[in-house]
Amino acid sequence: MIRYLITKEETCPKCDGHKLVQHWAWVEFWENHTTEEYRALQDKDGYMEEWFEERGYMVESAPYMGQTVSLFPPEEVECSECRGTGIIRTEVNFQEVLNLLAQSGAINV
Ligand SMILES: [Zn+2]
Repeated sequence: MIRYLITKEETCPKCDGHKLVQHWAWVEFWENHTTEEYRALQDKDGYMEEWFEERGYMVESAPYMGQTVSLFPPEEVECSECRGTGIIRTEVNFQEVLNLLAQSGAINV
């Protein structure tokens, strides 16, 4: 048996081709907070750390300029659907493609 395959490329539906998506914890954060609330919360000791840790994300601390700062997850992370390429590639049977093109009237078989 011989099967001819061609590669189909389409824009990733999850990231819409942008390669990055918002971290799930930040999605939830922004669903529950306004920008003004966020600015006010940055001065409120421990609130942000507690908020992320309540959702299972352990906030790490690191020294920076003589102080200890909290390391929250990055707001944007690589899209897991397309592995950061923005494109979904799949192999498609060439005969199926010919059938689709014939059905649409694009070609005569
Ligand atoms: Zn993607």
